[in-house]
Amino acid sequence: MAAKKTEIAKRATDVLALLKREYPVAICELTHESAFQLLAATILSAQCTDVRVNMVTPALFDAYPTPAKLAAADVSHVEQLVRSTGFYQTKAKNLVGMANQVMSRFGGEVPREIEDLITLPGVGRKTANVLRSVVFDLPGLPVDTHVGRLSRRLGLTKLEDPVKVEYELNAMLPPPEWGQFSLRLILHGRRVCDARKPRCEECLLEALCPSSMLPTKKGVGKSVKKSVKKSVKKSAKPSVKKRVKKSAKKRAK
Ligand code: SF4
Repeated sequence: MAAKKTEIAKRATDVLALLKREYPVAICELTHESAFQLLAATILSAQCTDVRVNMVTPALFDAYPTPAKLAAADVSHVEQLVRSTGFYQTKAKNLVGMANQVMSRFGGEVPREIEDLITLPGVGRKTANVLRSVVFDLPGLPVDTHVGRLSRRLGLTKLEDPVKVEYELNAMLPPPEWGQFSLRLILHGRRVCDARKPRCEECLLEALCPSSMLPTKKGVGKSVKKSVKKSVKKSAKPSVKKRVKKSAKKRAK
């Protein structure tokens, strides 16, 4: 059991190193100029793409540039501005509620502590960790759908609950790396490890991924889920180093 844990932690470290090499610069794709703006944008990003959020936030921030202005907003006007992001009634209510609480409980400043952040309307651990890691430069590992999916495919966790996944990943990685690790996994999920059709043949993590769909791995290629289970059981793999090299060569061709 302990050996298996050590092996998974080692894999997490290897994944981190490879992702750093592949994505030296990983930035949050939500346009923002302050903690308040990023908080509002992240609330809007639930069940919505960053691209779509970036289309609505300029008008929102023009109309309500500060927590004080947003706190005094007419919710129906905010609804109109954020309508295209989906769930707009709840999101508008949460935005105005968040601004009100930032004003009344935190003196107009977005708080930094996770325990405070998650008390704001519309803010869960994912959003709180985005704020901490992106604008406050504090440890925080946001687990969104990409981070959860890739972590499971890579055999770093078997869990589905994002909060539990966050704790498992946190235990394997140094706190200063948490935020960037999340951003890099998101980039990799968007570019290579697609939810429906992972492009394993061009994946830099293929050599150490228990869910690779490539036929070179015995027993894989049919179902990502099945292969995760199998590979986590069969943890002893032939020289990961060799396979990393081989896969890098393949991608370089
Ligand atoms: S090898 Fe395939 S399943 Fe594994 S991380 Fe890469 S793209 Fe995803």
